[in-house]
Amino acid sequence: MSKHPLQFLEVPRRGPQKEEVEIRIKHYGEIYGSYDGADAASQAGRCLSCGNPYCEWKCPVHNYIPDWLRLVEEGKLFQAAELSHQTNSLPEICGRVCPQDRLCEGACTLNDGLGAVSIGNIEKYITDEAYKQGWRPDMSHVVESGKRVGIVGAGPAGLAAADVLARNGIRAVVFDAYPEIGGLLTFGIPPFKLEKEVVQKRRSILEGMGVEFVLNTRIGVDMSFESLIEGFDAVFLGMGTYSSVSGGFVGEDLFGVHEALPYLVSNVRREMKLNNDDESRIDLHGKHVVVLGGGDTGMDCNRTAIRQGASSVTCAYRRDEVNMPGSRREVANSKEEGVLFLFNEQPVEILGADHVTGVKLAKTELGEPGPDGRRRPETVAGSEHVVPADAVIIAFGFRPDPPEWFSDFDIAIADNGRVRVDSIGEHPYQTTNPKVFAGGDMVRGSDLVVTAVFEGREAAAGITRYLGF
Ligand code: SF4
Repeated sequence: MSKHPLQFLEVPRRGPQKEEVEIRIKHYGEIYGSYDGADAASQAGRCLSCGNPYCEWKCPVHNYIPDWLRLVEEGKLFQAAELSHQTNSLPEICGRVCPQDRLCEGACTLNDGLGAVSIGNIEKYITDEAYKQGWRPDMSHVVESGKRVGIVGAGPAGLAAADVLARNGIRAVVFDAYPEIGGLLTFGIPPFKLEKEVVQKRRSILEGMGVEFVLNTRIGVDMSFESLIEGFDAVFLGMGTYSSVSGGFVGEDLFGVHEALPYLVSNVRREMKLNNDDESRIDLHGKHVVVLGGGDTGMDCNRTAIRQGASSVTCAYRRDEVNMPGSRREVANSKEEGVLFLFNEQPVEILGADHVTGVKLAKTELGEPGPDGRRRPETVAGSEHVVPADAVIIAFGFRPDPPEWFSDFDIAIADNGRVRVDSIGEHPYQTTNPKVFAGGDMVRGSDLVVTAVFEGREAAAGITRYLGF
C-alpha cells in the first residue's frame, strides 16, 4: 500500500527534466534527464496498487511493476533492481525506448485524466542508479552446469537469452558481426533516445555474469555455423531483420533516396567514431528532406535529419495521426523539433531525372479494415500534389532476410521469410533443428525491443529445459 493513499492527487505526474528544443537539436545526447531518489520515490508513490495491475498485463515481459514501484518508494533500490531483472533483461533500455503510452502507462488506471504513473522513467532510474551505487546481479546462488550455448546476434533477443542462460548456470558465448554489442540498440536507435554508454554498461553487467562476446565475427563468413553446432550444446539465433521494405513506386532508385537503416547506422557510426571514411556518412545538412513512414524508425530519421541541419523535414504518413504506429512521445518530440507532418498522404512516385527533386503524394481516406484489423488507406482520385525535396528517406519497416545456409542445417523458414519455431511445445522457440532455437524479429517480424527481450528470455527457458535443467 502506498504510504499516502491519495498521493496520485497531491503529486502530479512529472517526468524528469527535458532539454529545451533549441539546445537539444544541436547535439545527439539523450533529451531526458533522470530522477533523483526523492523524485523517483514520490512518483512511484503515485501508484494506486490496484488489485488487478493492467500495466503488468500490457507490459510484454509482464514486469512486476507495482512491486518495484513500492520498493522504490521505500528506498530499497537494490531490491528493486533485483526484482526488475527477474522479468526484464534490459530494463534501463526498455525504460528509455518502449512506447509506454501504448503499453504499461497506456494501461495504468490513472491514465484517465490524472496522469499515468511514470513507469518507464522509474524503470530506467532503478538500474541506472543501482548500477551507479555498485549494484550488480546477485549470482551467488548460481551453480555452473558445464553446458555452453552459442548465440548468434548481440541484439536485444540475444542479450536477453544470454542473461537468462547465465542465471541458470549455462555459459553463453555471443557472436556478432558488428564491433559493439546491441545490434540495432547500438547502431539503429539514435543516441538522443539511447546513449551508447547505456549499452556499454549493460555489456559490463553481462560480462560480469560470465557472458562472453565475440565481435566482428559474421557467422557463415568469418566462422562456420557448423563449428557452432559442433562446439556448443545448443545454439540461439537472434539475428534480427535488416532488409528494408520498399514502397514499390517509381523513383525509389534515384540518387538522393535513402533507406532508413543505412542512414541511421551511418550517423551513429560517425557519432561513435567508428567511420574511418567520412564519405560513408549520409549527411542531409541543408537539404529539404521528406521522410516516408509513420513508425518509430521514421521518427528517428526525422529527428536525425533535424540534428544534421536539414533545411526542412516533412514526414508523410498514409493514415491519420491516431493510427500512426510510432510512439506518441516520439511523434510529439518530432513536432517540437520542427518536423512538418502530412497525415493521410500516400507517396505514389519519387520525382527527378538523375537526382530526386520531389515526392508526388496522393491524399487518402481510411476504408474498411484489412486482415490486420487496421483500416486501409484508399487514395482519393485527383488529389495528387508534389512536395519538393532533395533527399527522401524510405522508412516502411524491415523484413527478415534469412541466410541461405539455414537450409543446410534443417532450419525451416516460413513463406514470409521468418524462422519457424515451436511456440507451444515443451521447448518454446525451438526451430526444426532441435539443437537450434530462435527468437526476436527474425521469428515474429520487425517489432519492439521489449518483445525481442521477451522472446530471447522464453527461448532461453526452452533451451534450459532442452539441456535437462
Ligand atoms: Fe513499460 Fe516497457 Fe518497462 Fe514493460 S518493459 S514496464 S512496457 S517500459
